Amino acid sequence: MGDTVTSAQRSENMKRIRSANTRPELTIRRMIYRLGYRYRIHVKKLPGTPDIVFSSKRKIIFVHGCFWHFHQNCRAGRIPNSKVTYWHPKLMRTRARDEAHLEKLASLGWKVLVIWECELKDTSEVELKIQKFLE
Ligand SMILES: [Zn+2]
Repeated sequence: MGDTVTSAQRSENMKRIRSANTRPELTIRRMIYRLGYRYRIHVKKLPGTPDIVFSSKRKIIFVHGCFWHFHQNCRAGRIPNSKVTYWHPKLMRTRARDEAHLEKLASLGWKVLVIWECELKDTSEVELKIQKFLE
């Protein structure tokens, strides 16, 4: 009984975190659209299924949730102490996968910008960064 509640709660938490995670991506996509750039999303044939792809520019933007992509030195990317043994190995694998994808994309000639969820506290800063990257 106790276990059932716990795992139900955990999956509820995960759902909440995951859906919260799509919001930063939508914010960024709207921002880029407003800036006048057009893009493709979730391109499966590229390593890591990049979130936002500018094919003719050969540029890519990933929007990373701080928890799921284990943002270092970031409060939002911190694992609660009680959950470290469960999450740490999983998140380390995600991180290693992310790094491998970035290397592969670079070797294929793609320029990549990673925007972290926590950067969206200052949207005008992020907008500037994106504009510079896409120029
Ligand atoms: Zn962060």
